[in-house]
Order: sequence, then structure tokens, then C-alpha cells
Amino acid sequence: MLLAIGFSGVCLSVTLLGVWTSTRRDSFLLTWAAGVMLLVGHVLAYWAYAQTPSILLLAGLMAFLAAGLAGLYGAARQFCGGHSPLRPALAGSGTIVALETPLLISGYDGAAMMVENFGAFAILCMTAWVYYRHRADAPVPMIALAAMYTACGISFALCGMMLVLDRQWIIGHAPKNWAEDFSIMAAVASMTGIGALSLALNQARNAARHRAAALTDSLTGAMNRRALFSRYEACPFGPFTAIVMFDLDHFKSINDTYGHATGDRVLSNFAEVASRHLRAGDDIARLGGEEFAVVLPRITEEQAQALARRICEEFAAMTLATESGPLSCTVSAGIGFGDAGGAGLEDVLHRADTALYAAKRNGRNRIEYEALRLVG
Ligand code: GH3
Ligand code: MG
Ligand code: MG
Repeated sequence: MLLAIGFSGVCLSVTLLGVWTSTRRDSFLLTWAAGVMLLVGHVLAYWAYAQTPSILLLAGLMAFLAAGLAGLYGAARQFCGGHSPLRPALAGSGTIVALETPLLISGYDGAAMMVENFGAFAILCMTAWVYYRHRADAPVPMIALAAMYTACGISFALCGMMLVLDRQWIIGHAPKNWAEDFSIMAAVASMTGIGALSLALNQARNAARHRAAALTDSLTGAMNRRALFSRYEACPFGPFTAIVMFDLDHFKSINDTYGHATGDRVLSNFAEVASRHLRAGDDIARLGGEEFAVVLPRITEEQAQALARRICEEFAAMTLATESGPLSCTVSAGIGFGDAGGAGLEDVLHRADTALYAAKRNGRNRIEYEALRLVG
């Protein structure tokens, strides 16, 4: 049985390494694979100890267990918060080994096993807590993971309790009782369950990352055109929803004079300024090149004009230090509104674009409203 657990652990570790080689950024998989390998070391050493007990083997199997579980804890922190796994892993395993060693040296192997079991319980509960705390990402699988780590932890606590209840401070061989048998079963079940769930979670997270990347403009962090259409294409625009289209003035000459990289910085600056002025529920999208659209739900004409003016004025007042001297840029804007009949996205964009065209024609660095009235 123990050898079978060891073998399935090696398979899990190799699978984790295989997945890691295809997505190198998920370095928690590497930590996790290392943790599982250390646990395999523990299982094999335990098997050998069960055949021929020796203090060295016992010290080794305990160190493997502490280091392996601490590795899983470090991997959980890395997966959930992106923290480095080294410090918590070293602290966790170091504490357990430091508590066990004096007991082992003084011949209290049973007491050392108690420390090992309660230490394993503590680390597994801490790991469960990490997943539970970050359950908002994917509630059901994260809570299931936390439950499995806790169950595994409880099985170790039961082993420790049995030793305490039987007062086995000195024992001389591998303990044999129902808690030990239960612990082995829990290890087999959780190894499979935790492995499958963690890989599925990682897969789901990567898919979500790719979806988000496909909908985000990488230069400015704004939504891209595709995201704008997928969010608003089916939405009717009422009379209190506006789209403001912005187009940077004479942007081509900025590229020509200061270089493309500086042009990119200007684009990012504009997106940053505009985003700062948006309210909760407003959206900004980069339509392409130096053209942006801002969607403003629940807004009146005056409020939309005021908001567009604040963005235009703050952007025009900015100066960017460049190698060829300070640079500033202006922006023109056109405002389009929905209507009582519930206009489509294309219609409102067209209204804003017509207004924007009028702003350009009328001298730039200004705002126009549906190409009918002069606003600023
Ligand atoms: P106008 O005032 O009439 O809007 O003139 P303009 O020069 O801003 O407009 P035009 O359409 O002639 O030029 C837009 C320029 O934007 C041309 C293109 O090279 C540049 N551009 C498009 N995308 C990017 C980008 O991602 N980065 C940079 N740096 N430039 C870009
Ligand atoms: Mg343009
Ligand atoms: Mg332009």
C-alpha cells in the first residue's frame, strides 16, 4: 500500500512538472512537484522504517514529511498570492524538525512522532486556510481543496492523539492503530483529489487570463474594440447613456518628431487621465490607433460635457519630458447619446464619431455634441 502511494506520488509529481514545462510562468507547479517528491521520500522512508526500524530512518522520514508539507504550503501561497514559497516553507519545516530532533536524540521517538503528527496537522490546516481565504477566485473548487487539506490534517492529528492517549512516548517501531490506517487512506484519497482539483484550477485560471488578455489593449490597459462590442453590442442605449469618442490631435506628427515609443507613452497617459475621471460603471475602450471611446451610463448632457472637458483639459495640461524637450498634446472629443427608442452601439458610436469629425474640422482641441451643437 505504501509503495503504491509512493508510486502515485511520483506520477503526480511528474505530471506537475510536465504541466509546468508547458506554462513556465506557473512556478508554483514546480514548488508543488518538489513538495510531492519530498512526500514520496517520506512514504518510502516510512515503508523502510516499518520493515526495519532505526532512529536515522525515523529522523529522515520526519524531515521528508515536514519539508514536503511545507512545500505544499509554500505552493499554495504562491498559487493564491504570488508570494515566494521559500520563507514559509523553510519556517514551517524548520520549526517541526527543530522540535522533533531533541526528542529523537533523547530517545523519545513516540513523543517526536506526536510532534510530527501535530506539526503536519498545523501545516495542512494553514494550507487549507490559504485556499479558503482566496476562495473568491473559484469558490467551489477552492473550498473543496481546503476541505481535503483539512481532512488530511485531521487524519494526522488523530494519529498524534492515539499516541498521546496510549502514552507512547517511547515506541521503537512504526505505530499500528486504526488512526494510522485511516491516515494512509486519507493520503491516497487526497493525493488524487488535490492533484486533479489543483490542475483543473490552474487550467481555469490560465483560460481566464487568456480571455482577459484577448479583451484588453496591451499598451493602455483599456478594453479593446472587441471587448467594447461584446459588452455593449446587444445593449440598447437610452437617452441617458452617452459615448464620448476621443482622438488625439496631430498624433502622427508626435510619432514623426519624438518617435513611436514616445507616442506610445502619450497614448498610455491619455488612457490613464481618462480612466481617472471615470465613475464606477463607466468604461473606456481603445478603438484603435489614437482613438478612444468612453461609455457613460446614467448621465445627462451637461454631466457628459463636463466630464469630457475635464479629461481634455487635464490631458492638454500634461507635459511629458522627452530627449527632444517637453511634449504636450491635445485631444478632440465628440459626444453621442442614445435615444428613447434604445439606439444600438453602432448608431451611438456613429453619432459620437460625427461629432468628433466636426471637432476636428472646427479646429481641434475641442468637444462637440452629436455634430449639431458646439460645446467647448
Ligand atoms: P488628427 O489631428 O486629424 O487626428 O491627426 P492625427 O495625426 O492624429 O491622425 P492620423 O490618423 O493622421 O494619424 C494617426 C497616427 O497614429 C498614425 C499612426 O502611425 C499612429 N498610431 C496608430 N497606432 C499607434 C500606436 O499604437 N502607437 C503609436 N506610437 N502610434 C500609433
Ligand atoms: Mg485618428
Ligand atoms: Mg488623431
